Amino acid sequence: MKVLLVYPPILRSAGIYSTPLPIGVLQVAGYLWWKGNDVRVLNLEIGGALKTVSIAALRRAYELHDPTRYVANPGSAYRTEFHQALLAHRPDLVGFSCATEQLDAAQCLAEDAMRILPGVRIEMGGVAAKPSEWASETARIALDHDPALSKLAGQNPPESFGAILTSHGCPHACTFCSSPSIYGRRVTEYPPERLFLRINDAAAMGAKRIHLMDDTITLRLERAREVADVMAAARLPWRTQTRVDDLARHPELAAELKSRGCTQLTFGVESGSPRLLELMKKRITRDQVLRAVEILDKAQLPYTANFMIGYPGETDDDVQLTIDLIDLMRPQRVLAGSVVPYPGSELHNTNPEFVARARRWPACRWSPFDPGFLCEDNGDRVQGPSAAAIKAFYDLVERVNDHAPTPGTFTTSLKNTTEQPAEASV
Ligand code: SF4
Repeated sequence: MKVLLVYPPILRSAGIYSTPLPIGVLQVAGYLWWKGNDVRVLNLEIGGALKTVSIAALRRAYELHDPTRYVANPGSAYRTEFHQALLAHRPDLVGFSCATEQLDAAQCLAEDAMRILPGVRIEMGGVAAKPSEWASETARIALDHDPALSKLAGQNPPESFGAILTSHGCPHACTFCSSPSIYGRRVTEYPPERLFLRINDAAAMGAKRIHLMDDTITLRLERAREVADVMAAARLPWRTQTRVDDLARHPELAAELKSRGCTQLTFGVESGSPRLLELMKKRITRDQVLRAVEILDKAQLPYTANFMIGYPGETDDDVQLTIDLIDLMRPQRVLAGSVVPYPGSELHNTNPEFVARARRWPACRWSPFDPGFLCEDNGDRVQGPSAAAIKAFYDLVERVNDHAPTPGTFTTSLKNTTEQPAEASV
């Protein structure tokens, strides 16, 4: 069978190209290829050389661009590129990866595919799609296969090939997260030999550093040490995700990871409000956050703290508590996002009103950088804190990140094209 797997645009819809490594797509590609299919992968988000871009530039890009129009326009470059790949490969099956902001584009592309190649089979996967039985089963088996990195040759900068999973799943049950529904709160750890092979593959593709993209590698102290030992032997700088309660429980771990080549940790704080942390079932406390920061500062290990804004029921007082906590933490970098009700998450399943409202928005506008995110046509916010509180929060995030060792929170690439505004090239 001839298969075309497609990663639809995200930030590209706002004129900026990012460089995600679509690991899920590449794992599915690896499995289907292993089964004897003729597989191609098309990353429609990508282009050009790596650059970092500030949150201010991202916000400006969303103000200047109309992602909805770009996605719907039959003449947009991403659709032309897809049509060319479709006609060149003439697949029997086209599969789309669907994160929330990719849904609208995936739908347009699926319609294009059915018009251009009548009878072609369409499959959707990813956090925002309800996959068919075939797609669910394929995704499940694909987890055990290596990502077919070579299928992206020429499409991704080498740096992005350093994204690797050493495990999947998480035992926690944060209400906003889709991991519990996807993996059933079960953690599957891959053997260290497999990690070695993947690092070698990434290095062969030109990766100079590795990002371990696991939900968290620090759930078990011994496992964290095992992974860190493999990374130390690989002699490439690396970064990964953790939880503040893990760091607070094992205060020696931060220094150990650093001594084994770890250059940065990322963890979710989400909110400075104990009431909201309780609602989110985050199972961390402000004290643990501050303790983790103290440990990381002592180990001189830089970190990125993740926060979210717009949780149903969040008030301006909650936002002020978040701002106060960021002031106390003095993080090197903050990654800030708006709350999105992922299908399958508890937040989605228990908040029909929030979901119904959220469905009224074009999916491609679901970005924290979009000034119209979750706003009525007249600009009023439909849920969560006031526009003034949200602005105060993002202003602080920008101030923090302006002083970050690496500016901005997203790696993007810029391409010589008339698709994007000059302001994006900051
Ligand atoms: S947000 Fe992180 S800790 Fe919470 S369930 Fe998801 S992966 Fe686990």
